[in-house]
Amino acid sequence: MTVTAVRPEEGTPVEEASEPPPGASLSALTEPVRPRLVVAVALGAAGAVLGVAGLVALAHALRELFRPEPDSGLAVLLLVAAAVGVIGRFGLRAWSFQVAHLAAFDLETVLRTRLSAHLGRVSLGEVLRLGSGPLKKIVQDDVRAMHSAVADAVPLVGFALAQPVAALVALAVVDWRMLLAVVVIAPVVVVAMQLSMRDHAAERARYDRANETINAAMVEFVQGMPVVRTFDDGSTSFRRFAAAVHGFTEATANWQRRSRTPGLIARIAMTPVPTLVVVLAAGIWLVAGGTMEPAGLLVALLIGTLPIESILPLMYLNNFVNDSKAGAARIASVLALPELPEPARPRPPRDGSVRFRGVTFRYGTDRNRQALDGVDLDVPAGSVCALVGPSGSGKSTVARLVARFHDVDAGSVEVGGVDVREIGTPALLRHVALVFQDPFLLDDTVAENIRLGRPDATDEEVEAAARAAGAHEFVVSELPDGYATRVGERGGLLSGGQRQRLTIARAMLVDAPIVVLDEATAFADPESEAAIQDSVAALTRGRTVIVIAHRLATVADADQIVVLAEGRVAEHGTHDELLAAGGRYARMWEHHERARAWGVRG
Ligand code: ATP
Repeated sequence: MTVTAVRPEEGTPVEEASEPPPGASLSALTEPVRPRLVVAVALGAAGAVLGVAGLVALAHALRELFRPEPDSGLAVLLLVAAAVGVIGRFGLRAWSFQVAHLAAFDLETVLRTRLSAHLGRVSLGEVLRLGSGPLKKIVQDDVRAMHSAVADAVPLVGFALAQPVAALVALAVVDWRMLLAVVVIAPVVVVAMQLSMRDHAAERARYDRANETINAAMVEFVQGMPVVRTFDDGSTSFRRFAAAVHGFTEATANWQRRSRTPGLIARIAMTPVPTLVVVLAAGIWLVAGGTMEPAGLLVALLIGTLPIESILPLMYLNNFVNDSKAGAARIASVLALPELPEPARPRPPRDGSVRFRGVTFRYGTDRNRQALDGVDLDVPAGSVCALVGPSGSGKSTVARLVARFHDVDAGSVEVGGVDVREIGTPALLRHVALVFQDPFLLDDTVAENIRLGRPDATDEEVEAAARAAGAHEFVVSELPDGYATRVGERGGLLSGGQRQRLTIARAMLVDAPIVVLDEATAFADPESEAAIQDSVAALTRGRTVIVIAHRLATVADADQIVVLAEGRVAEHGTHDELLAAGGRYARMWEHHERARAWGVRG
C-alpha cells in the first residue's frame, strides 16, 4: 500500500487525555540516561560544597595572616585549601555541565528513535488523526525542549540546591548569629515575591486574551486587505486593529503597574547588597562587643550572600522544568499510542480481491458511535467498486480499513483472500495503493516524491510512471530543474492538479493490484481536471478499484455500486440494477439528473 495522499484531518490535539499517560513525567522519559544525570547532579553538588569550603578556608587563611604572629605554614595550607576549593568549584561545575550536555544529546537521539520507531508501528489512522504537523512538532520541538531542560537544569539542580545548604551549614558552624543575619532577608524576598505574583493567574489570563484579540485583528487586517481595499482605504479594519493594540497595551501596562513596586523590592533584596549590609552591621556590632571573632565576620561576608544568590537560578530551574513538562506529556502520549499487532508469520495476499465480512468499527475518539455497522462487501479482483452515500455515511472509513489504517472491532477485512491482520504491513504496502484527495508530497525532488512508494526504482521507471500518470510533460517543460526540482513543503510550488498527478505517478510506480481512490472533487480548472481523469483512468486500468465517488456521473460504469447510509450497506448492485430497484440510489440519481438539467438550462 502506498499512501500517496492524505486527507486534511490534521491537528487533533495530542494531549487529549485529561490524565497524563504513564511515563509522562520528566523523570520517566529521562530514564535511559538516568545514571549520567545522577552523576551530573552529584558533580554539581560536590562543586558547590567545595566552593563553600574553599571560601571558609580563605577566611581562616586571612585571619591567620592578619594575626600578630601568623603561623605561616598553616596560612599556606589554608590558602592551598582555598585555591583547591575555588578551582574545584569551577572544575566540577564545568564537568557536571559536560556530563549533562552529553547525556542530553543522547537522550534526544534515544527519544527521536523511540518516537519514530513507535510511530512506524502505530496504526496509520492514529498517525493521520494526530496529523503530520503536530507530530513533527513533538518529534522536533518537544524533544529539543527536553534536551534543553536536561542539559541546563540538571547541573543546576546539584549546584543551586547544594550551594545555599552548604553555606547555611558553614554559617551555623561558624556562628549561629551570623546565620540569623543572613536569613533575615529571606522573609522580605518571600513577601515581596508573593505581592508581585498576586493575582498572577487572572492577570496572565487577561494578558493572554488581549494577545489573542490582537492576533485575530492582525490576521483579519492582513488577510482581509484585498477585500477591504476594494471598499475603502482600509481605515475601518485598521481602526479595529488599532483598538486591539490599545487593549493589549492597557493589559500589559496594568499588569506591570500592579507588580512593579513589590517586584522591584524582591529583585533588590535578591542582590547581595542588602545581605552584605545586614551581615556587616550585625558583625561589626558583635565584634565590637567582643562576642565574636573578626574571622567569623569574614566568613559570613564571603559566604553569606551565596544562599540569596541561589534563588534566581532555582527560579530558572523551575521555569526549565515547567516549560518542558507539557512537551514531556505530549511525547509520552505518542509513546503510549497502542501499536498495531504484526503477524508472527505473515501470509501474502493471493490476488487483488477485497472482502469485508460483517465489519463493525468505531473510532477510538468516538466510541459511542459506530462508523461502520456490520458491513459486507465483495469486490472481485480486477473489478471497480464505487462507494456512494451522504457525508458521514462511512465511505472513507471503508477505504481506510482496506489499508488497515485501523483494526476492526468485529468481523474481518480480507485483501487477496487473507485477513489484513495476517498480511503484515510491508506486504500490504505493496498490495494496496491509496490516492486520496489532498496529495501528500515531501519537501524533496519530484523524482524522490514519485519514488517514495518504491525506493529502489530506477530513473527510467520513475519517468515511465510519470508519463503514464500524465505528469512527465509538465515536469520537463514547466519545472526549472525537471525531475530534480524540489517541490517545497507539501508541494507548495505546484498546482493542485500537478500535485495530484505526481501522487498518481507514485501509485503507478508501486504497481499495486488494488487501488483505493478518493475521487478528486475540486480542481482549479477544467483542463487540469481532464488531465487528472486521464491519469486516474491509466492508474486504474486492469486493477481492482475501490473509489469513493462524490459525483454520480462518474460511477455509472462501475461493476458494482455500494450505497452506504449511517455506516451500513443500504443497497448494492450495478447502476441499472439499482435504478430498477427504485431505492436510495434511484432517488440520488434522480436528484443528480434534475440538478444537471438545471445546470444545462441555466
Ligand atoms: P465524507 O463524504 O464527508 O468524507 P464519509 O462517508 O467518507 O463522509 P466517514 O469519513 O467514513 O464518512 O465517516 C463515518 C463516520 O465516522 C462519521 O460519523 C464520522 O463523523 C466518523 N469519523 C470519520 N473519521 C473519524 C475520525 N478520524 N475520528 C472519529 N470519527 C470519525
